[in-house]
This record gives sequence, C-alpha cells and structure tokens, in this order.
Amino acid sequence: MYKKRKDFLVFGAPLIEEPEIKEITDILRSGWIGTGPKAKRFEEMFRRYKLRKYAIALNSCTAALHLSIRAIDIQNGDEVILPSMTFAGTANAVIHAGGRPVFADCRRDTMTIDPEDIRRKITSKTKAIIPVHFAGRPCDMDEILAIAKRYRLKVIEDCAHAIEAEYKGKKIGTLGDLACFSFYVTKNITTCEGGMVITDDSAYSEKIKIRAMQGLAEDAWTRFSDKSHKHYEVVCDGYKCNMTDLQAVIGIHQLPRIDKYWRRRKEIWGRYDEAFRDLPLAMPLPVAPGDRHALHLYTLLLDIDNLKMTRDCFLKEMIKRNIGISVHYIALHLHPYYRNNFGYRPGDFPNAEWISERTVSLPLSPKLAAEDVEDVISAVVDIVGHGKNKNT
Ligand SMILES: *Cc1c(COP(=O)(O)O)cnc(C)c1O
Repeated sequence: MYKKRKDFLVFGAPLIEEPEIKEITDILRSGWIGTGPKAKRFEEMFRRYKLRKYAIALNSCTAALHLSIRAIDIQNGDEVILPSMTFAGTANAVIHAGGRPVFADCRRDTMTIDPEDIRRKITSKTKAIIPVHFAGRPCDMDEILAIAKRYRLKVIEDCAHAIEAEYKGKKIGTLGDLACFSFYVTKNITTCEGGMVITDDSAYSEKIKIRAMQGLAEDAWTRFSDKSHKHYEVVCDGYKCNMTDLQAVIGIHQLPRIDKYWRRRKEIWGRYDEAFRDLPLAMPLPVAPGDRHALHLYTLLLDIDNLKMTRDCFLKEMIKRNIGISVHYIALHLHPYYRNNFGYRPGDFPNAEWISERTVSLPLSPKLAAEDVEDVISAVVDIVGHGKNKNT
C-alpha cells in the first residue's frame, strides 16, 4: 500500500553543515564581508582542485560565462553555438556579451550537444562553442575540440552541472579555453550564489578579473587594506560580479567534501536505477568507460505513449505525494523570447523537443535521508507502476 510522506521534500535542497554556519558568523563579526582573503583562498583551492593556472571567483556562473565570452572578444553579431537543451543562463550570457546564441540539437541518449549538429550550424560568423556537460555527463569533447580546431573556434565549457566530472581521465573544465562553474543553491556544492572561471591563459584571467570589478585595475580589498590611500583607475568597461568573502567561506568548507557528497549521490543514483528497472520509463544512460559523471541530475524519461500520461500530469502527481521535482529543461528554442528574437520554431530541434516533453528530475541531494529516497521511489512506482512491463 502506498503511504504519503508528511512533509514536502524540497528538490535540490543544499547540505549546509555547522563549520560554514559558524564561520559565516565569524566573518560577519570580522569587519570585512566583501571580496577579500576568503574569496582569494577559495579561488586558490578551486584552482588546485582543477590543476589550472588561474581561477576567478564570481557571483554566478552566468557572470562567469558572460565575462568568458567578453574575454574572447565576441563582437556584435558574432555567433556562439550552444545546445538548446540547457538553462537560460548559457544563452543569456552570449546575449549580454553582444553575441548571437545559435542553438544546436542534443543527442537523445546522452542529452548532450550533438557534434554533427554543431558542424551544420557553423557559419563565417561563428566564433565559439559552449558545450554544456548536461546533468554532469561529459560532452563528446574529442569531436568538439576537433571541430573547434578545424574552424578556429574558442571553446568555453559550461560546467554548471559538472564540477566532479572527468572525460577520458581528464578533469572537466581543463579541455576548453575557459570553463565556468556554478555554486548556486541546487548545484553539487554551493556558496548560495556563486560562480568560477578557470583558464590557463593569463590574458583571459586578467580581463575577467578586471571586468568583474567595474574595470578597476586593483580590487577593493587591496585598496582598503593598504595603510596609505590609493586612487583607483578604471582601465576598461566593467561590471559588478565579484564573489564576496561571505559566499566564499561556504565554498571553502564545501569543496573538501565534494567527493563525500558525490559518493552519497552515487548511492542514491544506484538505488533509483535498481528500483525503476521495470517501469515504463528510461533511466540515465550509464557513463562511458573512462569518464566520470558528476551525478548532478537524475533525469527520467517517461514513456508517455505507453503510460497515456503527460509529463506535466506526472509532475502534478508527484507534488500531490509531497515530492519536489524539477524539469531540465524545456529546450530554450521553445521559449517565447528566443523564438521572437532569433526566429526559432517548434520542430527545429527534434531531440531536444522529444526530451523536453518527457524529462523529469528527481531529488538527488546528499541531504536526502534513506527514507526520503524510499519516499521518492514509492511515489514514482505508485504513479507509473501500473504500466509495468508484463514479461518481467
Ligand atoms: C545553473 C546553470 C547556469 C547558471 O548558473 P548560475 O550560477 O545560477 O548563474 C548555467 N548553465 C547551466 C547549465 C546551469 O544549470
């Protein structure tokens, strides 16, 4: 018999632990809550974690993408190819920088950008590709890097889902020219809001650092911590997207636990895989040998024809059962803004649309207790279990 859980299970609830709670209080009392020593420390920790030469902490991954696109000198009308199966932030960052987002379809099985479709979308205006390591699964980087080399395009990796991922034994985010990470509340580790860019190119790093802080040649902490007064100089156009010390301390405590959290999500992932085997739905594809999946999103694809139930009906049923769920994503080209401004239409990206209609993401936070995981499973089974394959 199905038994409904009492309280609502929030999708993507972060696991915040006592050390960061305590240190936030210390920072609040310290007299310096802005960008300073903690942000620098977090950058250094992240740089070492990825073994890249430069890491710049910012207030979001959207800002990280925006400043990365500015760093490679995207000009008016330059085209940047990205998957339509991604979050709005990826495309919006291209628009902020003055570029034109050009969508490509994804593959149905991996849900990551299809290199064949990237090739079809290249024009004389194409300047860059943004592969999104969707759900934590590495994109087909050999193919993407080969295309980039052949057409002299820059590659900016969107690693918002993929901090822990590896592609053929190489750390994700070290394959492109620049790579961007998110520490938004629902991501694998969080700073509440936050982002990071990594690169091996000192010129890119310098441009990003300066633009993140109004185009000032020197950051506020260096200015204010100096005993003598210093005038600042504005050396280029800039924005305001620095990470504060208040945010960075959360990351400083979260980053060392990243593998512990990953292992907990792997357990939950395995439990879901086992429980859903015989249901009329597709589970995430196993990761390619030699790769490491960052296990950010456990996405089910409902067999809506067999179930005679829409995905949105499934969502309602899950919420009725007090289980928070999410959708990653309704493909960007289906949203009014991108349709009206860039001429996209339903039918343009068949695989992304196929996924958009069927996908649902289940809770996967390391905060989930064993009972929470079982509650998710019994809700799914209760809703779609009647469609069980008869021969199993
Ligand atoms: C979350 C996310 C972003 C944006 O990250 P923010 O830190 O919220 O700006 C970009 N791309 C993808 C794929 C994301 O999931």
